[in-house]
Amino acid sequence: MRVYIFTDLEGVGGVVLPRQVLQPQDAMYEEARFYLTREVNSAIEGALEAGAEKILVLDGHGANNAYNLILEELHPEAEVIVGSPWGRYIPYVEEGWDAIFCIGFHSMAGSRGVLEHTMSSSSWVNAYLNGKKIGELAFVAGYAGYYDIPVTLVTGDDAVCQEAKELLGEEVETVAVKRALSRTSARCLNPRKVRDLIRESAKKSLLNLRRIKPLKVEEPVVLRIEFLRTDMAQGYRGREGIKAEERAIEVEGANIVEAIERFLGNL
Ligand SMILES: [Zn+2]
Repeated sequence: MRVYIFTDLEGVGGVVLPRQVLQPQDAMYEEARFYLTREVNSAIEGALEAGAEKILVLDGHGANNAYNLILEELHPEAEVIVGSPWGRYIPYVEEGWDAIFCIGFHSMAGSRGVLEHTMSSSSWVNAYLNGKKIGELAFVAGYAGYYDIPVTLVTGDDAVCQEAKELLGEEVETVAVKRALSRTSARCLNPRKVRDLIRESAKKSLLNLRRIKPLKVEEPVVLRIEFLRTDMAQGYRGREGIKAEERAIEVEGANIVEAIERFLGNL
């Protein structure tokens, strides 16, 4: 069994403040990196207990050029992708994976969750896939679903766990590591408790693998992104398969992978 772990930082237990996710060299950011790495280790341990033979971790949080994990602390059985850019949205997805874990995820822009946003807190207002408002979880689950890979585990606050159930169905395993009180406050479980829960849920999600279906997105695909300001949409004018409005763009694709890679400029 092969497991791919896509990580983010905003949904890690104990992380509630922008300074914890935005500012390398800030002592609180450095602490958050430990929390992240230890949660990922717990997910790896659970996967190994369920029989995983190959595990790849993608450091998916954009700050510090997507280098947030502490490699010296990371479980020795996993390989890891750090640094950016990646060349494609989920690098090495085509190698064939049985499951994807989304660790440390946050809820979509405009939701009630901790540090809510979709892709960028500073430039994105909303994203829509075929007319339905989505968050980053749908980008990952839809992209992986194109390759028939299900997201089996989502960890983060209670808002992203709810988003996961609504998007992926009741069978997906979730771990709510904190309950959002506001965008920058949460009632948190103890980090050690969080790790136990993640290990157990990771294992359980793989033992239930057959019941968890990949997310299939209806084709062709229209990905709409509404930006904060008009200048943020201007750079997309004239690009093939992209319609630019004053403050929004619509990206067309034969499938979700094509739409996302076209948006990212990888096609
Ligand atoms: Zn992030």
